[in-house]
Amino acid sequence: MCKYDDETLEPIPPILRPGEKEYILLAHDECTVSTNDHARRVWLKDNQQPLKTKGNGRGIHISDWICEPTGRLMLSQEQIAQQLQLLPEARLKAMDARKIIYPGKNHDAWWDLAQLMDQIKVAVDIFEYLHPEKVGVWLFDCSPAHEGLAVDALNVNNMNVNPGGKQRAMRDTVIPLTNPPPKPGQLDTRGMPQKLVYPDTHPDLQLRGKPKGMKAVLQERESVWQELSLQCRRKVVGKCKSCQKSQAKKDAERRVAAAEAMGQEDTLSDNDISQAEEVETAPESEWCCMYRVLSLQEDFVTEKPMIQHYIESSGHVCMFLPKFHCELNPIELLWGYPKYREFYFCFPSYSYHMYTNSRTIQVIAKHLTENSRLRKSWFHSVLICVRP
Ligand SMILES: [Zn+2]
Repeated sequence: MCKYDDETLEPIPPILRPGEKEYILLAHDECTVSTNDHARRVWLKDNQQPLKTKGNGRGIHISDWICEPTGRLMLSQEQIAQQLQLLPEARLKAMDARKIIYPGKNHDAWWDLAQLMDQIKVAVDIFEYLHPEKVGVWLFDCSPAHEGLAVDALNVNNMNVNPGGKQRAMRDTVIPLTNPPPKPGQLDTRGMPQKLVYPDTHPDLQLRGKPKGMKAVLQERESVWQELSLQCRRKVVGKCKSCQKSQAKKDAERRVAAAEAMGQEDTLSDNDISQAEEVETAPESEWCCMYRVLSLQEDFVTEKPMIQHYIESSGHVCMFLPKFHCELNPIELLWGYPKYREFYFCFPSYSYHMYTNSRTIQVIAKHLTENSRLRKSWFHSVLICVRP
């Protein structure tokens, strides 16, 4: 990564050895503001009452990046002019990576992983145009909305015990080498490729093209099935009571987090809240049921979120901040600035106008990033956060 001179704040490019590339940090986050956001303090004459608009008004949802060398992730006016001279099919799909939506009833759909994925594809193209031959370090908050897996990802929650039925067809995998060794005289299945869907040529017509389900997948991992049958003592069950309870708690936690992220806490049921707050009890053993054993298999554990998978397959680095520590995200400095103007300098709807005016927000982003102000203030805020 580029360093900056402490005295002059001039950038000092890294000295790269053959085959090495420069890394550039790009911090992402989402922010929601409303048209009726207003100041917390106002100047009033004696006996005067503040006149406040009812309700929050129209909300806008912004998803954006901040990048040290260029401020926001967008093309300059000259670069846009160059792009417009190209044939439409040779141009970038967008000149600015930011995405603003107006969600709500009769308006845009609420922000979701599919929209974020589309935005990331555009953002990666813009980054590679602006910084050819450089590697982006894409930083995200650790939120359930960012951790979604691909549709065909290895996920035990999308599996039944038996073949077919309502379950997802998953990608092919390799049986982990970390599995228990085979008993003498038995086949060593470790390292063997495994399909999680029966082939269309399977002798049993009923099984052709059907997802295998947990039982068959584990039985094909012979040493694992052996160990599970041995440890279970009784009949091997699909999902034991303890795992069912733990899953219900996780589902409730996810619903609570999603409602909180969208400011819709009042839609939550009492049951969801109490389930999410329950103390988790660990199962008696790691070999309690098919569900737990398969979910602990190395290939299932290391399955990557969809956004990480896309970014890494494009040759970049994807990082998630520690859970519940979004204050470590440098883009919060950009989000915080208009709120500060709005709340403390009494500029009503300042955030709304600022985000809908691309030039203003770019000026602030440039101000934060130029001369490494972002890095200095970010490290400062990180130091405050980690100070014991
Ligand atoms: Zn279990």
